[in-house]
Amino acid sequence: MTEPVATEVGRDFIRDIIQADLDQAKYQEIVTRFPPEPNGYLHIGHAKSIALNFGIAQEFPGRCHLRFDDTNPVKEEQEYIDSIQADVRWLGFDWGKNLFFASDYFDRLYEWAEQLIRDGLAYVDDQSQEEIRLARGTLTEPGKNSPFRDRTVDENLDLFGRMKAGEFPNGARVLRAKIDMGAGNINLRDPVLYRILHAHHPRTGTKWSIYPSYDYAHGQSDAIEGITHSICTLEFEDHRPLYDWFIEKLPVPSKPHQYEFARLNLTYTLLSKRVLTQLVREGHVAGWDDPRMPTMAGMRRRGVPPAALREFVKRIGVAKANSVVDVGMLEFCIREELNRTSQRRMAVLKPLKVVIENYPEGQTEELEAINHPDDPSAGTRKITFGRELFIEQDDFMENPPKKFFRLSPGNEVRLRYAYFVKCTAVIKNDAGEVVELRCTYDPATKGGNAPDGRKVKATMHWLSAATSVPAEIRVYNQLFANPSPDASNFAADLNPQSLEILADARVEASVAESNSTEVMQFERQGYFVRDRDSTPGKPIFSRTIGLRDTFAKEVAKG
Ligand code: ATP
Ligand code: MG
Repeated sequence: MTEPVATEVGRDFIRDIIQADLDQAKYQEIVTRFPPEPNGYLHIGHAKSIALNFGIAQEFPGRCHLRFDDTNPVKEEQEYIDSIQADVRWLGFDWGKNLFFASDYFDRLYEWAEQLIRDGLAYVDDQSQEEIRLARGTLTEPGKNSPFRDRTVDENLDLFGRMKAGEFPNGARVLRAKIDMGAGNINLRDPVLYRILHAHHPRTGTKWSIYPSYDYAHGQSDAIEGITHSICTLEFEDHRPLYDWFIEKLPVPSKPHQYEFARLNLTYTLLSKRVLTQLVREGHVAGWDDPRMPTMAGMRRRGVPPAALREFVKRIGVAKANSVVDVGMLEFCIREELNRTSQRRMAVLKPLKVVIENYPEGQTEELEAINHPDDPSAGTRKITFGRELFIEQDDFMENPPKKFFRLSPGNEVRLRYAYFVKCTAVIKNDAGEVVELRCTYDPATKGGNAPDGRKVKATMHWLSAATSVPAEIRVYNQLFANPSPDASNFAADLNPQSLEILADARVEASVAESNSTEVMQFERQGYFVRDRDSTPGKPIFSRTIGLRDTFAKEVAKG
């Protein structure tokens, strides 16, 4: 894993611009917005944009709006509107009263479109989508004027009104801006402002048969809301001249400026909503909140603390050049936060039974375990020791290599908070697999130290067989096995080992009984959180993240 370089927070080119604007008294107040299209769940890329827009409103005098860019009813749903609000709140940001929808402006946008027609700046085009595409030209060739470009104002107004009234089928006509089919910037070659779409809209119902394009709606929505700095990702840089064209030609109440920054890309991750939607619809994952998804809902279910996401986006900073961030950086931030905040418990993921032969049958004793090594206020808890225990299968080797210091025949180790134990015999099944160990313990080492000063090289976690409780543990790994998955053929890059189910794990009884969704550290294993699939008889825990970055090493080994 690359160790993250701490970046100075609060210094990036957008904040510099805002500071300069304030120094020149250009604005009384800075107004930003986060403008999601409600056609999917938010992902970690959106977290970057949310933290930037809402963060600016916190750092400077100002406010940040949450505005749904709901201009395409075919793909938008109330479920997404609701999840987006929940996710922004979960991340720790608040829009207060400033919740808006582009659909609130449909009437005004329509009137402004009529105004463009009256000013000779827009026309109804009867060409098909395909004809329009072909006549648009290329980067090196100019486009061709539409045969309908010179319609009279009256004819355009009449046709546009009838489009709105629902007289024509989908795709029959569009309204286009009349700019310049020879413009070097293809976005200025008579872009489409309205298309016919007989579709039910989550908010406006069946009122509209035409819907504005993103390009037409976005800047005007910003202007209506008095947005001062309209911050978006780099792919909209070439749209800025069009954004400015509308702002100049229309009687808008304010003149926002658009600024572009680089979107977040992460290794082993795809952040396109198209791909995420397909992952869900095609059943590659269990839903939008599957813990392997890079969605905020998935990360929340997986136990990722919102503070870790905020720290992550702070560290990566805001730049103008596209780059790919190592997912190890995100994991580092999650581990740092969880190491600080989560209580320690013991769980055995793959149990191996151990019988302590010299421990009296029927006897048990309570030992004291620390809940957080760096936080005494987290207190202690009792754990039960007895004659029959479970340890981790991986902590025993019958024929260990040289550097294996954990349990092996004749070798002594420490059971955390308990005693030194030594393995005296190995019991196998007919298949030759180790199914049980016989050990002895040294009663003088209670608490984990030998009075004679002898040392052991390993301390292992364990659970008592009698008091621990069966549980299912879900170990999640990267969803994609390829560090740069191919968005156009992502199924080929899926990691077949992204979910490992350990059905026979054991946990401390108190862990199983609690309904808490606080993340816990299972000692020596990682961070885990109770999953909502748990039932009273069968608690289920998801691994938020392991203690160390083993994945990168495995990949390097090949
Ligand atoms: P997709 O490209 O997958 O369709 P989108 O960017 O169009 O997603 P929106 O709902 O339009 O999704 O995004 C809302 C805001 O979040 C936009 O301002 C967009 O620029 C920003 N955003 C989306 N993805 C990222 C990302 N990976 N990094 C930073 N900002 C992002
Ligand atoms: Mg978008």
